[in-house]
Amino acid sequence: MIIVMRMGAAQDEVEGVVRHIQTLGYRAHLSQGEERTIIGLIGDERHVSHESLEMLSGVERVIPILHPFKLASRDFKPENTVVEVGELRIGDRRLVMIAGPCSVESRQQLLETAWAVKEAGADMLRGGAYKPRTSPYAFPGLGEEGLELLAEAREATGLPIVSEAISPETLPSVLRHSDMVQIGTRNMANYALLHAVGEAKRPVLLKRGLMSTMEEFLMAGEYILSHGNYKVVLCERGIRTFETYTRNTLDINAVPTMKQLTHLPVLVDPSHGTGRWELVEPVSRAAIAAGADGLIVEVHPRPAEALSDGAQSLKPENFARLVQSVRRIAEAVDRAG
Ligand code: PEP
Ligand code: MN
Repeated sequence: MIIVMRMGAAQDEVEGVVRHIQTLGYRAHLSQGEERTIIGLIGDERHVSHESLEMLSGVERVIPILHPFKLASRDFKPENTVVEVGELRIGDRRLVMIAGPCSVESRQQLLETAWAVKEAGADMLRGGAYKPRTSPYAFPGLGEEGLELLAEAREATGLPIVSEAISPETLPSVLRHSDMVQIGTRNMANYALLHAVGEAKRPVLLKRGLMSTMEEFLMAGEYILSHGNYKVVLCERGIRTFETYTRNTLDINAVPTMKQLTHLPVLVDPSHGTGRWELVEPVSRAAIAAGADGLIVEVHPRPAEALSDGAQSLKPENFARLVQSVRRIAEAVDRAG
């Protein structure tokens, strides 16, 4: 539940409520707004008396949170969360464009792509170094060496980087080199990994599990928040349906639904969402029109030679066109391009 303090409640009143919550055996999460403080009581709240909390000094009202996700819920925090990655603000009015290759393959491929996406208007560079592949015989990524190349690309271009950790063991190396940690679709419910990124306090790009409901997705985000990391960005990347013409079915419903249910930023990945490069631009336009805060797009200078996901990768010139095109949609739906 959330405890809304009176406007201008004194610091010792806030501390009194926090102490009371802790004596009851629960955790308290403070959210200090411009005008008032909101305190979240986290844990199984069935045995807590509303009335006794309402009588505490400085408390205005107590609101139950009906969703199983609490910290992620808009009831807990009505205003949008903006996740900062360096200077970049994800979840603000301006769209955020993340682009780069599925996998880091070589220095030449990465730097060529990094400069091209920067030129086209990307705000951040993506690139997988640890790749979770369906086949044990497929390219597994360059590992630490790939992350070093990403760090070099950041030095050269100034673009912050995001890369995936596929296990608690690979997380320290991702944390050493990248600005944001990606948790991929296959690991959305890897609770040991969610716990570890929760404690790492680095911004996280959490992708929806390909077989997960929106509620399960939000509960995965809640895991990270509940371990003290509030810098979580959600990413809809398509789910598995009976349709096989496309690699996945991008769940456009999830975009406005997430924006209603949670204050966390929501990005869309039209590359994995479709699996076909020629669908990436139209689906991106739909995602922005539906309210996404930005996109993460796979780009490769020579998609036919890509070691992973070539069929869904855009050539740099097509990515440049996509950026222009979605910025026009952004303006049409009253947000900054
Ligand atoms: C990726 O971004 O390259 C990736 C593997 O994504 P997902 O986890 O959504 O499949
Ligand atoms: Mn990929």
